Amino acid sequence: MLLVEDEPAVRLGVRLALERAGHRVLEAPTAGEAWPLLKEAEAVILDWVLPDEPGTRLLERMRQGPYPTLPVLMLTARGEVRDRVEGLSRGADDYLAKPFATEELLARLEALLRRAGRRRLLKRGPLLLDLERREATLEGRPLPLSRREFALLAFLAERPGRVYTREELLEAVWGQDYLGTPRTVDQHILQLREKLREDPRAPRFLETVRGVGYRFREGA
Ligand code: CA
Repeated sequence: MLLVEDEPAVRLGVRLALERAGHRVLEAPTAGEAWPLLKEAEAVILDWVLPDEPGTRLLERMRQGPYPTLPVLMLTARGEVRDRVEGLSRGADDYLAKPFATEELLARLEALLRRAGRRRLLKRGPLLLDLERREATLEGRPLPLSRREFALLAFLAERPGRVYTREELLEAVWGQDYLGTPRTVDQHILQLREKLREDPRAPRFLETVRGVGYRFREGA
């Protein structure tokens, strides 16, 4: 557990509570000191107001960089709804307003870790698929995909390098009883490529294999 908080009294109180609950605690009073410790953390408690940069900015760098899914609980003295929405939209998993009871902090943290443990995540380069929530992000930004688009993308991304015919994809993603045509698959691939901002001549993710079908690029 990484605790990023500049107020020594709050840090001490939270650290003792976390340790009593059996967590190993790393501490950082600034965003700069927090960064190198992130790779050892199973979750982060992140204060909004830090001396070197806002916690939300650290969070943004985490989400767009190497930590797209590390669970983050945001702390703030600013309890306004607007701040809460901002914090969550920037990628915090939960939020707690100061002052708070350490029991509540612990309860929320446990819930966060449970949710994180249940999530099945698929990472392909800058593309991240949450197979439980059926949500996708590209470079940390949410991708608005329909149910079918998500299902098609997830099916291919789970099996990189394997080529599937349109008929196979129809059966796997739409089901045997669906009365679609191969054109249905083409349309969905087209929509997906647009949302993934693919270069049609050199797609990063979804490749056309001429005369056969489609595949998710290996090593994407
Ligand atoms: Ca602070």
